[in-house]
Amino acid sequence: RAKTQGGGGYAMFDRGMHEEALRRLDLELDLRRALERNQFEAYYQPIVRLRDTRLVGFEALVRWNHPDRGLISPAEFIPLAEDSGLIVPIGRWMLDTACAQMRRWQLAFPRRPALTVSVNLSARQLTHPDLLPEIRRTLRESGLSPRHLKLEITESAAMEDGDRAIELMAALKRTRLKLMLDDFGTGYSSLSYLHRLPIDTLKVDRSFIRHVHDRAADRSFVETILNLAHKLGREVVCEGVELPAQEALLRGLGAEFAQGFLYSRPVTAAQAEMLIIDDRENPGRLLRDIAPAPG
Ligand code: C2E
Ligand code: MG
Ligand code: MG
Ligand code: MG
Repeated sequence: RAKTQGGGGYAMFDRGMHEEALRRLDLELDLRRALERNQFEAYYQPIVRLRDTRLVGFEALVRWNHPDRGLISPAEFIPLAEDSGLIVPIGRWMLDTACAQMRRWQLAFPRRPALTVSVNLSARQLTHPDLLPEIRRTLRESGLSPRHLKLEITESAAMEDGDRAIELMAALKRTRLKLMLDDFGTGYSSLSYLHRLPIDTLKVDRSFIRHVHDRAADRSFVETILNLAHKLGREVVCEGVELPAQEALLRGLGAEFAQGFLYSRPVTAAQAEMLIIDDRENPGRLLRDIAPAPG
């Protein structure tokens, strides 16, 4: 587009790039101070069991409450946090916050089946030497049982460091927590590599769920993933379920769990607590009937 506008177009393009670079720099400076200024917040998105649509846990998702820019999504600042290494302290904060919150909920609702919490782990965290002691400390301090903590590792992060990633994941498994392979299908892991990964659950990326109900090719693809996962003894969470037709199809294909806007967007801890209460009082009732729908 810059070309068709002639010389002035190039100037505008350059200025645009410059502004983008400045914005990134600015954001990174702010990011460095965000932790001490308490600007992060953990949001929680329900994960439901497809068999009866009951709540089984939450995925914890970080949000940044920027003083001038409002709520900034992780898609914007996680890459920055990864490049700068800030993901390590931010990730530690998320792990502490999510484990402590889940333990409080378990104590507040002792009669319902224990919920689990999933926390995302970036490649930088996975290879950090302090990860294992930090996780042990978090579990000890929060009192959360490792069985109720799930770590989500993306397929690409798991592949980045090959055998080393497998060793680290095996060490994590020895603390008896659960491992999930996130965004599954978007990386290029081979069957044999997948077979060696010590994971409990596959999370099928939402790009494959979008047309699972109205495109035969997408349905076959998801069906193949499900068969594969089940043959390997793994369970499956389908991400990005937005429509009843998608839910019905996935249930029919035997997927165990689902997550998506159909049930609820990621919500604050206070709103998540309302979802727990509603699930207890109306077991099996669709969360979408009662879920608040904030950003
Ligand atoms: P993810 O781990 O795959 O998380 C799921 C993302 O999909 C979330 O975006 C969630 O809001 C969104 N989502 C869930 N259901 C639906 C749906 O039905 N439709 C659509 N269109 N989207 C849906 P979010 O919260 O913006 O997070 C984006 C990514 O940022 C996450 O993808 C994860 O990779 C990363 N992330 C978020 N929190 C953390 C964190 O604490 N640590 C690390 N390392 N990464 C994080
Ligand atoms: Mg995730
Ligand atoms: Mg995902
Ligand atoms: Mg993702």
